Amino acid sequence: MATRKATSSVHPHLHLTTNRHIAVIGGGPAGLRAAEVAAGNGSRVTLYDAMPSVGRKFLIAGKSGLNLTNGESWEKFIEKYSGNELPQEQWKNILSQFDNDALRDWALKLGIETFVASSGKVFPKPVDGTIRAAPLLRRWIEKLRALGVEFKTRHRWTGFDSNGQPTFDHSGEAVTAYHDATVLALGGASWPKTGSDGGWQSILIERGIKIVPMAPANCGWEVNWPEQVLHDAEGAPMKNLLLSAGAATRRGELVITRYGLEGGPIYRLGPAIRSQTNPHVIIDFKPDMSEQELNEKMGQVTRNFVREARRRWRLDPATCALLKHLPNRGPWKTSAQLAHEVKHCRIDLTRPRPIGEAISSAGGVAWAELDENLMLQKMPTVFVAGEMIDWEAPTGGYLLQACFATGTHVGHAVSRSSI
Ligand SMILES: Cc1cc2nc3c(=O)[nH]c(=O)nc-3n(C[C@H](O)[C@H](O)[C@H](O)COP(=O)(O)OP(=O)(O)OC[C@H]3O[C@@H](n4cnc5c(N)ncnc54)[C@H](O)[C@@H]3O)c2cc1C
Repeated sequence: MATRKATSSVHPHLHLTTNRHIAVIGGGPAGLRAAEVAAGNGSRVTLYDAMPSVGRKFLIAGKSGLNLTNGESWEKFIEKYSGNELPQEQWKNILSQFDNDALRDWALKLGIETFVASSGKVFPKPVDGTIRAAPLLRRWIEKLRALGVEFKTRHRWTGFDSNGQPTFDHSGEAVTAYHDATVLALGGASWPKTGSDGGWQSILIERGIKIVPMAPANCGWEVNWPEQVLHDAEGAPMKNLLLSAGAATRRGELVITRYGLEGGPIYRLGPAIRSQTNPHVIIDFKPDMSEQELNEKMGQVTRNFVREARRRWRLDPATCALLKHLPNRGPWKTSAQLAHEVKHCRIDLTRPRPIGEAISSAGGVAWAELDENLMLQKMPTVFVAGEMIDWEAPTGGYLLQACFATGTHVGHAVSRSSI
């Protein structure tokens, strides 16, 4: 692993003080971690959440395997993050203070062993053959309670009073809570039924805080498929292709769905696709063969090009359906024309799937609003953590890692006596 700061549970230059009362609003991984660190540093912490229970999106993430972090080298790891004006050095510093090893150690201290899969993804070890998030969340909450964290669920944050104290709606009753500092960890805007509905944006915008518009990330894109493509290829995978959006490329597998395309490469190219005026991707269906090699394999074939290509170039059925039925392409007059298409197949995308369905959201509190402690410069004593800040990352464990790291950073910062 590359040179970087040694991880430590104690923040450098930290002057701890007890009896500080901290409000953490939002009980996702970022808020729970901020609460854990602040309480561990001696602060009195109350954690508020709008929902009847905390960690709902974390549990949903567990259903698809709870990919906690990624075991790849730190240089590669850190490259996965992007965002408008993401302050590279500050971001590296935040993540280095609670990195992928620290996250695995943290889980182990809760009695949850992790393993690195061949893909590099890190998961909790399965129990009875199943990876679950619930045991980890349960033990984490027990630890927080043991540290004295008080949980106040069904408390929807509604803003700040004239003294800058957070206000809540608790079952129809307006509640104000008095704290020395507030951590907002309200999440992004995907999967609103888990509680992360992005409703916090209007409250901060009213206070003059710049929010980079939230957009769906790690999501499929819509395509107007001809009916015949769906008839022949809906639900079918197109394997081992190279997908490009501008200069960005990703290899992997895509699936044709009724509404468009899903799969790792298109999720990962989200930022590049969103930056295009006319969103589109180019697929190279045979990234390991040159156009010339494809032509040579076709030999003297003079008709039924797609049928021949399926056998000679080993194209999968879904790819053949596209080559046959995409508008304005065939009928193919020569095999060379088809070979060119196989290497440069353009698919126009209409829009991303709705944000409610996305795994995560891009955008959020603009970096220009934050100081090095992730405190809102316009609202001293208010800090932010997690997905509500304007960073984004692909799936693979990078999302949760950044939520834990920003939660850790803010948890230490709010514990400092100077703030
Ligand atoms: C299907 C799915 C699978 C995923 N799988 C993975 C994975 O395997 N690996 C990975 O790294 N990431 C994964 N993610 C992403 C990851 O779960 C999120 O990035 C992460 O949960 C964000 O953490 P957070 O603490 O910032 O916010 P959240 O977890 O969204 O928590 C925010 C909390 O704030 C509360 N809240 C919101 N508004 C208010 C309000 N006004 N008042 C009070 N409380 C409020 C919400 O109720 C919620 O509890 C997945 C996401 C989804 C949807």
